[in-house]
Amino acid sequence: MANISRRAALQGAGVCTAGIVAPGLASQLVNDKTAEHNRGLKIVAVGAHPDDPESSCGGTIARYSDLGHQVVVVYLTRGEAGIPGKSKSEAALIRSAEVQRACAILKARPVFVGQVDAHAEITDKHYQEFRSIVEGEKPDVVFAPWPIDSHRDHRAASLLTYDAWEKSGKGFELSYTEVDLGGQTNNFQPTDFVDISSVVERKKQACFAHESQNPPSFYVRYHEPMQRFRGLEHGCQVAEAFVRGFRAQSAVVFPDDRAANGWSFKPLCRSLWTTTCS
Ligand SMILES: [Zn+2]
Repeated sequence: MANISRRAALQGAGVCTAGIVAPGLASQLVNDKTAEHNRGLKIVAVGAHPDDPESSCGGTIARYSDLGHQVVVVYLTRGEAGIPGKSKSEAALIRSAEVQRACAILKARPVFVGQVDAHAEITDKHYQEFRSIVEGEKPDVVFAPWPIDSHRDHRAASLLTYDAWEKSGKGFELSYTEVDLGGQTNNFQPTDFVDISSVVERKKQACFAHESQNPPSFYVRYHEPMQRFRGLEHGCQVAEAFVRGFRAQSAVVFPDDRAANGWSFKPLCRSLWTTTCS
């Protein structure tokens, strides 16, 4: 699991600039600091279905991957129930291929958990299974679906992720994402935003890779208004919104955190979340 040394190194070093490790951490990091710094952050974005992570935080994924960080997208299911007239196995095959295309566009690596669309379960076995997958990725930052959601699978993905965070000893940054604001996601009051203006076309391409879902209709109806609305809130053209899981304990901040940035947007460094650079 990501430990304090990695995050502290990333922030304490002001990774974007000199790469200097905070003195108190130097001895702990002697064996792995170079590798860790070169590798950058590991980001894990969790979604219940194919196209959930793309639509909720696809722009943020693109920004992370463009900065050289590793992004893994964890899909709880393969969208088996998502294509009318197709069997579960047929739909899974089609939608898995769409995931591969979407992740290639975002420069992310997909991982499938293996649960079944519309039948996601939260059991001891599934908690353990999900936790093993997340821990295996050694994430620094994890995005989870917001739990107050009309879709059972979204709620299941949220709780499984939260449990993995708890069982990891709160070993990574946890934040929540939204989908279909007002329809599926509810009571979502963002604490942070990421300006996705520079990558919004790539996000759109990734969403459109899910051809079986009739993307022209869902993208225009749900995603474009949502990201424009969040952009208005954030003071930019289009944005993605997040709820920070546990702000008081957070070691890093979002790039567009205006309070932390003195109300001015600073150029990003290697970490989208680190504002220690200038
Ligand atoms: Zn979904």
